[in-house]
Amino acid sequence: MKYCHHCAAELIHKIPEGDDKLRHCCDACDTIFYQNPNNVVGTLPYYGDKVLLCKRAIEPRLGKWTLPAGFMELGETLGEGAARETTEEAGAQFELQGLFSVLNVARVGQVHFFFLAELTSDQFAPGHETMEARLFEEHEIPWDELAFRTVKETLRAFFADRQAGEFGLHQMDIHH
Ligand SMILES: [Zn+2]
Repeated sequence: MKYCHHCAAELIHKIPEGDDKLRHCCDACDTIFYQNPNNVVGTLPYYGDKVLLCKRAIEPRLGKWTLPAGFMELGETLGEGAARETTEEAGAQFELQGLFSVLNVARVGQVHFFFLAELTSDQFAPGHETMEARLFEEHEIPWDELAFRTVKETLRAFFADRQAGEFGLHQMDIHH
């Protein structure tokens, strides 16, 4: 962020009076621009004992496998965003279930939320962000070809819970 959205003056990076963090400030019109974390919303879609992964057709992590997820839009709920991303990226048919994982990625200012989603069909129609959408059994999961740590940790928790016979809500902090 370089120029003021209101008056187009050049912004200054400083700690405003009464604050303790550096902010983008406009001295011309006396506005402070606060930057806050973004929510990433997605699902862990499963069909019987298989889970759905999408091969990314876009950067970052082109060609790596991920769960369907993306940035939440204004005006939607966590669940609506997760369902939208699942439809957009995988063209999957599913029933959205409970919130399963919440992952803080403070280093990049993001919080990721994954819901469980029970697939009602094993047919997919991937969107332009996805090269391929397919089902994997646990032993087939390409653990070294996953796009993001949040996806890896969510899948790990899913298989551990399934083994234990009970699904919980998992909160994690991702540091790297
Ligand atoms: Zn201004």
